Amino acid sequence: MLDFAKGDGLIPVVIQDDQTLEVLMLGYMNEEAWEKTQRERRVTFYSRSKNRLWTKGEESGHVLQVVSHHVDCDQDTLLIKVIPAGPTCHTGARSCFQTDYNQNFLLALERIVQHRYAYPSEESYVNRLREKGINKIAQKVGEEAVETVIAALAETEHDFINESSDLLFHLLVLVREKGLDLKTLAKNLESRHQ
Ligand code: AMP
Ligand code: ZN
Ligand code: ZN
Ligand code: ZN
Repeated sequence: MLDFAKGDGLIPVVIQDDQTLEVLMLGYMNEEAWEKTQRERRVTFYSRSKNRLWTKGEESGHVLQVVSHHVDCDQDTLLIKVIPAGPTCHTGARSCFQTDYNQNFLLALERIVQHRYAYPSEESYVNRLREKGINKIAQKVGEEAVETVIAALAETEHDFINESSDLLFHLLVLVREKGLDLKTLAKNLESRHQ
């Protein structure tokens, strides 16, 4: 049971992107906002400035679709993992916090690849790769793996960075082509770890 009494009827709610793990924003909920959030599977806060329930995205359309929620150790704070429909900050930024995005970029890139699959465009390299079929995508992964090995043994650090980046990118496309995602691979790796 969430403890709303401690904070005068309001609990802080951390909003995290389920896929990229970015912290997107922090808001507050009263019991009514929390019930509405659970019912609609999209985030509604209690706005302290508006003094009313505020469904994030009610004007912008950039709603936060709830994937899962997690109550903290003493039941007075919520973490909600979401799929954002657009930029979460009213400034147009993805997150209200200026975080170091680079470490997340592999996850963000996975989302870009998934987006290309959902909305194919002619200029997209991902889309052209996809049209050539899984054999071609798998072959590219093999080529980039060999290039990575050669670069690791005989070329510069710069070459190695480029070739391993190529390998990761093409592996991302192959994983998507197989209908899978990095989360599944991470879960599998974790399950092997004793
Ligand atoms: P929205 O809920 O995205 O339709 O935005 C409605 C209004 O809420 C905006 O005009 C902003 O004043 C405010 N707002 C939107 N997003 C945020 C945010 N992440 N943090 C604080 N205020 C916000
Ligand atoms: Zn707590
Ligand atoms: Zn903001
Ligand atoms: Zn390469």
